[in-house]
Amino acid sequence: MNALPPGSVIGILGGGQLGRMLAMAAARLGLQVSIYSDHSGPAFDVASSHVVGAFDDLEKISAWAATVDVVTYEFENVPLAAATAAASLKPLRPGPRALEVAQDRLVEKSFIRDLGIPVAPFAAIDSAADIPAALEKLGSPAILKTRRLGYDGKGQARLSQRDEAERAFKEIGEAPAILEGHVSFDGEVSVLLVRGLDKTWAYYDIPDNHHKNGILSTSSVPGPLSKELSDNAAAMALKIAEALDYVGVLAVEMFWSKSDETAPLVVNEIAPRVHNSGHWTMDACPIGQFENHIRAVAGWPIGTTARHSDAEMTNLIGSDADHWHELAAENGVIVHLYGKNEARPGRKMGHANRLKPLSHGMSHNEKD
Ligand code: AMP
Repeated sequence: MNALPPGSVIGILGGGQLGRMLAMAAARLGLQVSIYSDHSGPAFDVASSHVVGAFDDLEKISAWAATVDVVTYEFENVPLAAATAAASLKPLRPGPRALEVAQDRLVEKSFIRDLGIPVAPFAAIDSAADIPAALEKLGSPAILKTRRLGYDGKGQARLSQRDEAERAFKEIGEAPAILEGHVSFDGEVSVLLVRGLDKTWAYYDIPDNHHKNGILSTSSVPGPLSKELSDNAAAMALKIAEALDYVGVLAVEMFWSKSDETAPLVVNEIAPRVHNSGHWTMDACPIGQFENHIRAVAGWPIGTTARHSDAEMTNLIGSDADHWHELAAENGVIVHLYGKNEARPGRKMGHANRLKPLSHGMSHNEKD
C-alpha cells in the first residue's frame, strides 16, 4: 500500500547527525534524501541534496517540499509553521501533532497523563510567584524545566525550598516552565517503537540508559526490565503512538523503579524521532532504528527489531572523539563519527557500539 518505490526522495527537516544516519539508511534501500536546514551540518555530507534556508522562510520550505515525496524531521523543535507548510504539500510523517506535543513539556505531560500513563506530578509555572504553591503541592525536591527548547538537561533547575524560587526561575531564563516532583528511580530506560503506515508496529529491546552531566553517556542491551515490564512499557509507548496517529520511530523515555509496585514505570518525555538511546540498533540488529524510520515514512513494511548481539553504545562527547584511533583498533567495537570539525565540550561527535554475543535468550520483543 502506497509504498514509495526506490528512487523516491525523502525530505528531512534538520541536518544533524540523526539526519546523517537516516540518509545513510535510506541509501541502503535505494531511496534518496534531501535535507532542509538553516545551517550546514553532518547530514549534508551524505544526502543526495540539501537546501539551506531559515525555518521561518515558508516560501523556501514549500519550494523544497515540492521536490520531495515525503517529509520527516530529525529534531523536535522544527517550528510548527514550517512543518505545516511542508505538510500542506506532501505527507508529513510523523504528523504535526507529534511535534506540537513534544515541543512543550506542559502539553506533553498533560497529553500523556490524560492517556492514563504515569508521569511525574507537575504544575504549570508562569512566574517565580507560582513556585511556592506548586512546591507545596508536589513536595521537594522538585525540578523546574522550561516548557520549550530544553534538551540534555539544559533549561532545568533543581530546588527544595520556596526561597529558592527566584534563583531557580532566573536560572532557567525566566521562561514559561513546569515544576516537576522528584521521581525516585533505579534506572532510566527508553522504548524505541516503530509504527508503519499500515499501523503494524514493533519495538526494540529496551536499553538501560546512563547520563553524565545531563547528557546520555551509555545505552546498553539487555536492559534491566523483565519481559513483562518490557511489554508494559511498550504498551504505554504504543498508546502514545496510536493517540498521535504516529508513523515512524518514536522514543519514549521512562524512569524505572524496582520497589514501586503501583507505578514501576513513569514516562519522562517523548521524542518524535530516532533517538540517541537507539544508536546501538545500527550494529546489533539487522535492521536498525534509522532504517525502520525510513521504511515507516516511505510506507514500506516495518523490518524486524530483533537483535543478534548484546550491545553497549557509548557516546563520544567533545574530546572523547580524539580517541578514534584506539577505538577503531579495539575488537568488537564499531565506531561512528559524525564528521563535525569542532569538538566543543558537550558536543556529540560520534558514538561507539561494543558488541558481545547474545546472552541468555534475551532477544527480542517483536510485536505486530
Ligand atoms: P529531561 O531533560 O527531562 O530528560 O531530564 C534530564 C534528566 O534529569 C533525566 O534524564 C533524569 O535523570 C533527571 N530528571 C528529570 N526529571 C526528573 C524527575 N521528575 N525526577 C527525577 N529525576 C528527573
